[in-house]
Parts: sequence; C-alpha cells; structure tokens
Amino acid sequence: MTAVPSNDYVDVWYRRQAPADLPQHPALQARIEADICIIGGGLAGLMAAYELAKAGRKVVLVEARRIGWGASGRNGGFVSPGYSLGYEAIAARVGPMAAKELFQMSIEGMQLVANNIRELNVTAANPCPGILGAVRYDAGRQLADHRDWLAKEFNYEVAHLDRAALAEHVTSPSYHQALHDQNAFHFDPLAYCLGLARAAKAAGAAIYEGTSADVIEGGLGRWTVTTPQGRISARDVLVTTGGYTDRLVPELHRAFLPIATYVMITRAAPELIASAIHTRSAIGDDRRAGDYYRLVDGGKRILWGGKITTRTTEPRDLGKLLHKTMTDTYPQLAGLEIDTVWTGLMSYARHRMPQIGKLASGLWHCTAFGGHGMNTTAIGGRVVAEGILGQSERYRSFAPFGLEWTGGVAGMAAVQLTYWRYQAMDAWRERKG
Ligand SMILES: Cc1cc2nc3c(=O)[nH]c(=O)nc-3n(C[C@H](O)[C@H](O)[C@H](O)COP(=O)(O)OP(=O)(O)OC[C@H]3O[C@@H](n4cnc5c(N)ncnc54)[C@H](O)[C@@H]3O)c2cc1C
Repeated sequence: MTAVPSNDYVDVWYRRQAPADLPQHPALQARIEADICIIGGGLAGLMAAYELAKAGRKVVLVEARRIGWGASGRNGGFVSPGYSLGYEAIAARVGPMAAKELFQMSIEGMQLVANNIRELNVTAANPCPGILGAVRYDAGRQLADHRDWLAKEFNYEVAHLDRAALAEHVTSPSYHQALHDQNAFHFDPLAYCLGLARAAKAAGAAIYEGTSADVIEGGLGRWTVTTPQGRISARDVLVTTGGYTDRLVPELHRAFLPIATYVMITRAAPELIASAIHTRSAIGDDRRAGDYYRLVDGGKRILWGGKITTRTTEPRDLGKLLHKTMTDTYPQLAGLEIDTVWTGLMSYARHRMPQIGKLASGLWHCTAFGGHGMNTTAIGGRVVAEGILGQSERYRSFAPFGLEWTGGVAGMAAVQLTYWRYQAMDAWRERKG
C-alpha cells in the first residue's frame, strides 16, 4: 500500500503539538465491500464511523488528505451548545417545540464530545472548562434574561458577569458584561480527531487517507464509490465533506458556501499576556463573525481567531488583520508578536443550519455545520448513525433545513456584502456604548 506524504497537514498549532511521526492510514488500493462507506475524515465523518463501527457495522472511511486535515483539525476548539443560526431564527422557521428539541440536541452534541474524550481517554485533547461570551456594548438586562431563559427552558446554568466580575478574567476597555458557561469547554480539536479515528479503528472501521472519492454510482440497494486506485461497494454511503465539498454530489455542491475564517497563535509572552487575559476560560464576543480566543501552551500564548470572508485564498496581510483586532481589544498587547497564522474553510448553507438527511435511499449527507461544528458534528454524526442503524429518525429534525441553492457566485457576493453590513452595524453599536 502507498503511504500518503507525512507533511500533508497545513502548519497549524495543533499539528505541532501532535507526535512528529503520526501513524498514517494507507491509501485504498483494492476493491472492497462494506456496509457503509463514509466520505470525509472530519469530525462529522469520524463520529458516524465510530458510532457505526461500535454497533458492529463494517465501516470504510475515505479521506482525501489526512484525518482532521479540514476544519475539524484547525478550528478554534470552542465546544458549546447552539448552531450557527440563532435560536430565534430557528424557532421562526420550525416553531417553538421543534426549536427546543434542536437546541437540546446541540447540548447533547457538546456532552457527546466531552464523554468521548473521557471514555476514550483522549488526554491530548486537553479539554479545559469555561467559555465567556462577552459583549462590546452595554446589554442592560439582556444577558441576565438570557441566563434565566436557559435555566428555565433547558435547565442549563450559566453565570452572569457584570463589568467588575468580568475584570477578574480580562483587562480590556472593550467589554461591558458576559455570560460564563462552565459546561462548555475548549480543547485541541486535531488531537480529538486523531483520538476518535483511533477509537473507530479499534471498533473495526477501516480508514484510508490520501484517498479521494471521485465518483458515486448506483442506488437500488448498493452504491459504488470509486477512488483513484480502488473501489468500495456499500449499502449506505455517507458524505461528510464540509467546506471542502467538491462536485462529487452536485446537489450538495450547489447548496453550500465555502466561507474562510482565520486563526493566529502569538509568540510566547506569559507575563505580557497575563496583563490582558487572566482566565483559563476561552472568550468569544458578540460581534457577528466575532473574535474568539483563548490561552494555549499553559498560558504562554494566545490563540486568536476571527473574521470571515468568501475569499478562499489566504490574504497576504492575514496576521496583521488579526493582530489589529487583538490590540483594539487589548492595547497592552501591541508588542506581542505573531508566531503562526492559518485559514480554514467552513461550510455554510443559506439557512445557516446543518444539512443532514438522505439524497436517495442509502445515500446520506451530514454537512454544513458553519462556524459551530464542534458540538453539531457530534450530534449530526450520531443521528445519521441512528438513522442508518434503524434506531431512530432523529435526523429528520433537520429536514426543514434542506439543500437550498446558495445562488452560486451571486450568492457568495451577497454573503460578503451581508458580512460587511454586519461589521458596520457592530461598529455603530459599539460606538453607542
Ligand atoms: C478556522 C476555523 C475555526 C473554527 N472554530 C470553531 C470553534 O471554535 N468551534 C466550533 O464549534 N466550530 C468551529 N469551526 C467550525 C468547525 O471547525 C466545522 O464546522 C467542523 O469542523 C466541520 O466538520 P466537517 O466534518 O463537516 O468538515 P471538515 O472537518 O472540513 O472535514 C471534511 C473532510 O472531507 C474531506 N474531503 C472533501 N472532499 C472529499 C472527497 N471527495 N473524498 C474524500 N474526502 C474528502 C476533506 O479533505 C476534509 O478533511 C471553525 C472552523 C474554522 C475553519
């Protein structure tokens, strides 16, 4: 079997933390049979693979590059409830009962990740509790009301922090109040991907890296997936290709927008950093496509993420862009240098909800998790696995959010314009204080 190149991951911080000699899965070079063929080795595919293999099904997963090479292995590592689409908008589309059920599932997704890390002993994922959701304007009672609503509707406890309480965590002129969610956590997502892949393999799944699915054919009880040097015949096929979805399945390709977002890691400067951020909780703010950041490397560095764009190429001034947002928030960090920056693609549907369901009998999809994929890929993978196993029809909860056409190039332009409009609205709200 041919091994895939060892340097195939992009240079993300998480890859530097993993062992240099990461074991590689071979490329597929044979004709094989399976119960289920999963296409894509991000967290949606891995979760489904693990669940299905545990249930005794013969699973084959093919990944074009490396396990966790896509968004799943290069994201901010925030694991919290919810979806990319806000609760109000979900309720407006599906009604209050269904919205409540969907939100509950998003909490279940977060808990699934926490349980997997614990039960599979993925210590390298290094989960750390606490996410602060801070606001850059005076929200009055708004956050306290939200805290009360979460407790009443979902028995989900978060703490409200006023300016003084928030100052115990961060020293920034930008923030007014925050909600502190101690159930949510942050972690090393690539380490988790690798741990989940190990568990899926131990449960019997076959994993092939450097193996792109090029064609899916068939139906009528059996599907064939053709790869450059192999072929898989399976009763079910599950497509989990996220923001890297190509034209393999045209219905999926026309229904998603690849949106880029960015992350940087600073150089180590523990004392300087402690003058700004003195909490082990991660921090996200209220801006649309807001900033999200946390301490890594035992508090010596900051991982800072933010910005979205429809440009899929990396801007030359990417580091400067993120550095400016960081110093606008924490002027005292002006001298803090950047170590590394990277970009990744998220998959967005027009409706900003996951796209989960069946395209035809035995042809499943589980994708479009947007910027909120750490909990939703877990619940998405689980409900699809339950559907394939005939255990539940929970995947149908996502049916109201179907495969709408995104509008092609015009759709991309509209998204970019909307983002700029949101940025202007954020700036106006923050100026008002
Ligand atoms: C920079 C960044 C920061 C983010 N931060 C957060 C965060 O803090 N919290 C959060 O909840 N979410 C975050 N997200 C979103 C989250 O990472 C994604 O929603 C989630 O990882 C999507 O997982 P996935 O499995 O659908 O796709 P991916 O992880 O992108 O996996 C898709 C895989 O499919 C493979 N593939 C594509 N086509 C083929 C083919 N034809 N054959 C075989 N394989 C194929 C790709 O190589 C890729 O590995 C962030 C995303 C980015 C990019």
